[in-house]
Amino acid sequence: MEDDFKEVSENYTIAEAVREAQRCLHCKVPGCKKGCPISNDIPDWIAELAKGNFGNAMKIIHGRSNLPAVCGRVCGHERQCEGNCVLAKKGAHINIGKLERFVADFDSDAGLTHEAIPEKSRGRVAVIGSGPAGLTIAGDLSRQGFAVEIFEMEPEPGGVLMFGIPEYRLPKEVVRREIKKIENLGVNFNLKTTIGKNFTVDELFDRGFDAIFMGTGTGKPKKLDIPGINSKGVRQAIWFLRRVSLFQSGSIRRNEVLVKNGDKVFVIGCGNTAMDAARTALRMGAAEVTIVYHRTIEHMKALRAEYDDAVAEGVKFLWNSSVVEVTPSEETRLKQIAIETEGVRREVPADWLILAVGSAPAARIVSSTSGIEVDGKGYVLTRDTPYGMTTRPGVFAGGDVTNRPATVVHAMQDAKQVAEGIAKYIDAIKLMEIINKK
Ligand code: SF4
Repeated sequence: MEDDFKEVSENYTIAEAVREAQRCLHCKVPGCKKGCPISNDIPDWIAELAKGNFGNAMKIIHGRSNLPAVCGRVCGHERQCEGNCVLAKKGAHINIGKLERFVADFDSDAGLTHEAIPEKSRGRVAVIGSGPAGLTIAGDLSRQGFAVEIFEMEPEPGGVLMFGIPEYRLPKEVVRREIKKIENLGVNFNLKTTIGKNFTVDELFDRGFDAIFMGTGTGKPKKLDIPGINSKGVRQAIWFLRRVSLFQSGSIRRNEVLVKNGDKVFVIGCGNTAMDAARTALRMGAAEVTIVYHRTIEHMKALRAEYDDAVAEGVKFLWNSSVVEVTPSEETRLKQIAIETEGVRREVPADWLILAVGSAPAARIVSSTSGIEVDGKGYVLTRDTPYGMTTRPGVFAGGDVTNRPATVVHAMQDAKQVAEGIAKYIDAIKLMEIINKK
């Protein structure tokens, strides 16, 4: 089974990477950079790579990204940098994602980058959650001279990178390596610590933090109103993916992961999480996995590349179809589900139904803290100046919890702006303190 979860995409050799980089035209108005949500200086680092200057390439990438080995693997390159590369028109875009992964992996393997730990003299920031948004804030602010502490409820940092994206797309070792680099900037991690349960936002302020960032994501999965949906054989995709991750890291036993050899699995939803759940179910031994989606392929939220890989691995798709009833078996699993396709209903045997229909923010922090307002769906409201601040002064939010970003890199893009907002806010309150003392 270990092999089933081996990373599916192969890395470049040095010669292949340099050859690919040399194809780049170093455009004056680079579409690739425009297409990148975090405005990565793509032509510049590719030019360094083409000359074999791997360390310089890494330095340029680090100027914009704290997680290049992650972005190189899981970004939606086809819709971003690669889709906007001038050579894409000829069907031969530069493989930017693969090159970024090469540079980041080479740098880690060779231990090239040793960033100096900046002096922490500008203020103290607490970061709640260590997914892509929290890690980006921590890396950016730490480099700018802020003392940053991360508070994470899980036993390991990484959030969705560690517990949501499967091993075959993003190996956990890669995530650990990237987090280590952020730790090396002087960021402190408090694990197994749930804000809103172990202690509150107010207590964080009492401990002397100048600002608090909530990057807590959307941990409350959405449900569907279908007869039988509360059966034990119906599970959330993020629950399933987390279980598989925990099993792989040795924290739980095989029988605590729901899918067994030969099972028949259905997945509702058609985003990247649905693809991840379906492909993971196959790797856990399912005999048949079918994605059920109420619209057509043109409306699918998943990246085309994810869909193509899912099809190649044997995932089946039912378009214009909805699950209308769930029937449990006498044990914990299901007996069958009823599917309606364009008005025609049929019953099919099923062992498990996995839901991947989106998620909303959990209310733990907001309900235990006064003054943080949310919209009707529970997303935290923030302002533009200073960027990302909630209705409670000093408390900032970014990433999925604010309903702005949709992917890892969009969460990072948003977090970079919030980091600027936090820096401006703390500088301003420190200045006021000095003025008031005079
Ligand atoms: Fe190179 Fe393509 Fe970017 Fe032009 S658009 S600089 S060819 S990667």
